[in-house]
Amino acid sequence: MPLFIAFAAGCQAEVELAPSWDTTAWICGWTAEVNSAEGAFLERRPYRTPACIDAVMKDFDVDEHSFLVADQLANPYVLLGNDDAVWNTRLGGLLWAAWALHTTDLGTLETVWQSDLIDPTVLSSIEETTVSLHSPNIQSALYDWVTSTVSQTQAAGPTREAMASFHTGTRTLVVRDVMYGFAGSALLVHEIRHDVGAGHIRCSFDAASYCDDGPDGSYGFQLAVLEIARQRTTDPIFAAQLLHQIEGISQRVQ
Ligand SMILES: [Zn+2]
Repeated sequence: MPLFIAFAAGCQAEVELAPSWDTTAWICGWTAEVNSAEGAFLERRPYRTPACIDAVMKDFDVDEHSFLVADQLANPYVLLGNDDAVWNTRLGGLLWAAWALHTTDLGTLETVWQSDLIDPTVLSSIEETTVSLHSPNIQSALYDWVTSTVSQTQAAGPTREAMASFHTGTRTLVVRDVMYGFAGSALLVHEIRHDVGAGHIRCSFDAASYCDDGPDGSYGFQLAVLEIARQRTTDPIFAAQLLHQIEGISQRVQ
C-alpha cells in the first residue's frame, strides 16, 4: 500500500487505517450535520440502540470491564435510559465525545480558511495523517483515523494531570475523567496525535503545565479541530463555547 509508506512518519510501525465511520453511521442512524451547542454540548442521548453503543465501543476497542468497574455501571446499555448521572461517567464521556466527533459537520480541508489559530502546517499534517482513508469530510477522516489508531481504550482512576492519555507503544487510550461533548472530541484527536507527533514540553509561562514545541503537535491538532468547528457553526452559543476552549489551548502551542 504505497500511500501508507509515502506518508509514514516517525519510527512507529504504520497503523493500518480502516474506515469505520460509514458503518457506524449506518448502524446508529447518524448523519454529520450537527454543528450547534445543542448537539455538541447539550444533547447527551444520541444513542438509541444497543447495537449503536456496541458499534462505537468496537470502534474504540473499549475494554468494557475496566469502564464498568471504574464507573460502577451494570452494563453499557444504561446509557440508553433517562438517567443523566450515567453520562457523568468515563464511559458516558467517551461515547459522548465519540458521537460528537462522528457527527459534527467540519466540512472539508478545502473549506477551512486560514486564521491565526490554524497554522498551515497543521492542515497539511491532518491531510497527510488521514489521506489514505479517502474520507471526504474532516469529521469522518478524523473519526476513522482516531478509531484506526487506537488498539484499546481503558478506564483508569483520575489524576491531577490528565483527563486522558495515550500510550504510544501499545496504542492504548486511557480515560481518567469525564470528557464533555465536542471538547472531548478535540481531546481524542489530541491524544491520538501523540502516536506520531511529539510529546509535550514544559510551558515557558508555567513550568507545571505542558505545552507543545511547534504548531502541529497534539495541542495544534486539538486547536485546529475546535477552530474548524467554530468556522463552520452558525450557532453563537456553540461558537462562544468553542472560543472558550480555544483560548485555554492556544497558549499551549509555543
Ligand atoms: Zn498530550
